Amino acid sequence: HAVLALEHIGLRIGGARILEDVSLQVPAGEMLGVIGPNGAGKTTLFNVISGVVRPTEGTVHLDGRDVTQQPIHRRAAAGLGRTFQTSSLFPALTVLENVRLAAQAHTGHATSVFRTPRRTDAATAAARTALAEVGLADRAGTAAAGLAHGEKRKLEIAMLIAMDPKVILLDEPMAGVASGDMPAITEVIRGLHRGGRTVLMVEHHMEVVLGLVDRVAVMHHGELLAVDTPEAVMANPTVQSAYLGEPV
Ligand code: ADP
Ligand code: MG
Ligand code: MG
Repeated sequence: HAVLALEHIGLRIGGARILEDVSLQVPAGEMLGVIGPNGAGKTTLFNVISGVVRPTEGTVHLDGRDVTQQPIHRRAAAGLGRTFQTSSLFPALTVLENVRLAAQAHTGHATSVFRTPRRTDAATAAARTALAEVGLADRAGTAAAGLAHGEKRKLEIAMLIAMDPKVILLDEPMAGVASGDMPAITEVIRGLHRGGRTVLMVEHHMEVVLGLVDRVAVMHHGELLAVDTPEAVMANPTVQSAYLGEPV
């Protein structure tokens, strides 16, 4: 079944139509790429899904429940996760402490990160599992400030994993990542599939998108032009004309 369903989403801000009649069903476990020229409405769509913005028309269903009017934290508790911005890392805390905070936010058991853990609590265990999943286990004791940029992106994804989301929204995970670091981060994103997680990913690097996704959704001027396999989308004349003058 569709773990995420958008029905006729519209968004008007002032006189501007930002989103127009966007309907999209995402089956559980799918990796969906979201592409489109700059300003197409991709980030705004993620904001509508996560509750940062309420649509002026249409509905958002998460796991069969109508969450259209629910606040961000209720959707997060229902299993919706977004990557943290790098600025949300605590630079002076270690990698492990950052991920443990995310795990504690998920379980609702906030304990001080400054105490000396005598026993391995559930949050620490979840944090170590998440760090292993992104390949940062050996950096657990490093201050987050000491990480390279690519490692910080991995840390953000580990924090997301620690919150045990069913549906993950990644908005341009390769932004600012050196091309040499992209293969490793691509593998981390591929690994998010394990455990049946559903991933929606906005990304401009088409080689990254095409190497990862099951289907691609194409946005243009706030509308969904096409949702199809990568091959079908790239061969679609409507999609090609939307990208005229832009690199596909
Ligand atoms: P994308 O992520 O595809 O590059 P965005 O979703 O960021 O596009 O933006 C889509 C359009 O909506 C842009 O024209 C942007 O200027 C506009 N927009 C987004 N948020 C707002 C807002 N809060 N107020 C007015 N315009 C907005
Ligand atoms: Mg943009
Ligand atoms: Mg954007």
